[in-house]
Amino acid sequence: AVAEVEDAEEDLKPRAPIVTVMGHVDHGKTSLLDYVRNANVIAGEAGGITQHVGAYNVTLESGRNITFLDTPGHEAFTAMRARGAQVTDIAIIIIAADDDIMPQTKEAINHAVAANVPIVFAINKIDKPTANPDKIKESLAAMNFLVEEWGGKYQSQDISAKKGLGVKELLEKVLLEADMLELKANPHRNATGTIIESTLDKGRGYTATVLVSNGTLHQGDVVLAGTSFGRVKALFNERGQRIQEVGPAMSATLLGFNGAPQAGDQFHVMSSEQEAREITTKREQLQREQDLRTQKM
Ligand code: GDP
Repeated sequence: AVAEVEDAEEDLKPRAPIVTVMGHVDHGKTSLLDYVRNANVIAGEAGGITQHVGAYNVTLESGRNITFLDTPGHEAFTAMRARGAQVTDIAIIIIAADDDIMPQTKEAINHAVAANVPIVFAINKIDKPTANPDKIKESLAAMNFLVEEWGGKYQSQDISAKKGLGVKELLEKVLLEADMLELKANPHRNATGTIIESTLDKGRGYTATVLVSNGTLHQGDVVLAGTSFGRVKALFNERGQRIQEVGPAMSATLLGFNGAPQAGDQFHVMSSEQEAREITTKREQLQREQDLRTQKM
């Protein structure tokens, strides 16, 4: 296995929180993520992020950063957790104020609680005449999730993802929650992190969206994830711009893998391609043995 080295306290630097938005279908997850990606809550760089990326970082007017995971549904969250990847620091649970707490909302809350991930509630669609945010808060209270404005411990924010109302305030609340977690990482070590998604691009070969959990990933590093490896040929940020390196809690699209690693796979930086190849061979061998054993059973 790949050994983990403990970081010395003095090497640890504050890092951005990694946030997942979850909720019932049609409650506004996509609209919220789109608004955050495109709108002026992001300082500078007008126009926002146009292309789809599985993870992206936004800078707020305060200069602080939040990394959003934008994976299809919370299946990805569950799949990643099942593979042992705890990538999310904070969950935004989005609930439409003109609807109820739906099964998928409950499921999302349960996932976050099981993963010990703090929750911030976003009560959405408050621009609608039929919206009744108080009713949602009552239902949450009945489930033992009392919101802060009613004396509870859960932060919530009324928003309209469509109009951008309350989104800035929502993100500030996410940052407050992040402050309590005192998130830190060591930028001065070899990178480790998680594969968010990967595809085979006809022109460019295998591309993977990676989220660095610790260390800094550089162009030229040798990376290994599952049984795929390779030298990092190029890194791109969420705006499609070439970058030389990517630090903790930041994501990038990576070119250079010799195959498609799976979402949720951990990646590590190896000392050489030779080392990566050896580990890959061992992993493949183990996999074959396991397959044989399950066939016999
Ligand atoms: P998702 O399935 O959770 O990703 O939901 P979407 O973001 O696709 O939204 C579902 C529908 O609700 C779409 O028609 C959106 O335009 C609409 N919607 C989302 N947010 C709002 C909002 O704040 N106000 C209003 N009026 N409609 C919204």
